[in-house]
Amino acid sequence: MQPRIPGRNFLFVPGPTNVPDRVQRAMMVAMEDHRSSRFPELSRSLLTDLKKVFKTEEGQIFIFPSSGTGAWEAALTNTLSPGDKVLASRFGQFSHLWIDMAQRLGFDVEVLDVEWGEGVPVERYEQILKADKGHLIKAVLACQNETATGVTSDIAAVRRALNAAKHPALLYVDTVSSLVSIDFRMDEWGVDLAVSGSQKGFMLPAGLSFLGVSQKALKATENAKSKRCYFDLADMIKANATGYFPYTPALPMLYGLRESLNIIEEEGLDNIFFRHHYLAEGVRAAVLEGWKLKLCAKAPKWYSDTVSAVVVPEGINAAHVIDVAFRRYNLALGAGLSKVAGKVFRIGHLGDLNELMLMGAIAGAEMAMLDVGIKVAPGSGVGAASTYWRSHDPIAKKKVSQEQQFYASHSTGSIQG
Ligand code: PLP
Repeated sequence: MQPRIPGRNFLFVPGPTNVPDRVQRAMMVAMEDHRSSRFPELSRSLLTDLKKVFKTEEGQIFIFPSSGTGAWEAALTNTLSPGDKVLASRFGQFSHLWIDMAQRLGFDVEVLDVEWGEGVPVERYEQILKADKGHLIKAVLACQNETATGVTSDIAAVRRALNAAKHPALLYVDTVSSLVSIDFRMDEWGVDLAVSGSQKGFMLPAGLSFLGVSQKALKATENAKSKRCYFDLADMIKANATGYFPYTPALPMLYGLRESLNIIEEEGLDNIFFRHHYLAEGVRAAVLEGWKLKLCAKAPKWYSDTVSAVVVPEGINAAHVIDVAFRRYNLALGAGLSKVAGKVFRIGHLGDLNELMLMGAIAGAEMAMLDVGIKVAPGSGVGAASTYWRSHDPIAKKKVSQEQQFYASHSTGSIQG
């Protein structure tokens, strides 16, 4: 069944996210010679501006024509040798997939299984690192934002754990669903390999991955014996030094990235992080106070500002909610993956978004839930989100105590008809 009436599809999966019109237009380019003398202007500007987004001055950024999974692989194979010991934690589908890749690539992964709904177990990391007197562990993996469960972990705390243990292992962080949406500080937090992708906070289609590499990690590439070819940083370093790529670059994506970085620069990273938090709080108000449902994230310290996984009541299949939302209301919600399949649906709240776009998602999810028999009060999600957003000023970044205050402080004093 097709959606029954026309109008836009409401895309609220946690990636790919909505691509702003400006970015779409910037990608409508004629193909050109990627070996021309002008091409380095583009590539150099991208590599320079990406450093600001990763918050690194020391590190080097790499752009691959792949989805985020490619940068996972590039991070591991360029810095490790077969049999190397890796410490990682699993608390959702994406932390699981990175572990699965590390195992398939022949590394010896010590996996800490954590309840889905919690994040990186920093104390356990610290104990294990302290006990590893011989420094056999070469890599520590952490997923900053587990997209499957809507859980954000404290990466600064992982760095503190490594420091407390005086452990030299490299720190690898997955920022695929957090970069440019939730604060990330590559240099300050001592992150050695930061993996990201284009289709979430960057507001681009899928197709580019980004990898931030510290000087320490670059040094480690010299001794890393893992087989690599397409993702070999050495080839990329050589070509990037002259402003080119070792193979044909995905030109429209690079022009889209240029425009996305312009938009990011105009809004400013701090404003972007604040906006994501403010929008996420409205969604959480809808779920917790309006619908009286639970989030998969077990406690506020784990709440993600980019995606909320909503737990449906026992006896209801969340896939049914998602299907009704899509077929009946033209709304795409994120599916529950693996262990939480059927138990949650996800609302992505990252990228190019504002309150009223999210109101569409909340209203649509609410209607779909009612249609499948979930007894939420009609209008309760929208009401709770509206109360939150109306009582917070996203520009002044403060709570507005009186409901009239926003109008009072923004009114021009005359209403023209
Ligand atoms: N890591 C996280 C946290 C993700 O959310 C995803 C995809 O959603 C990936 C890695 C894999 O990225 P991709 O699908 O771009 O290969």
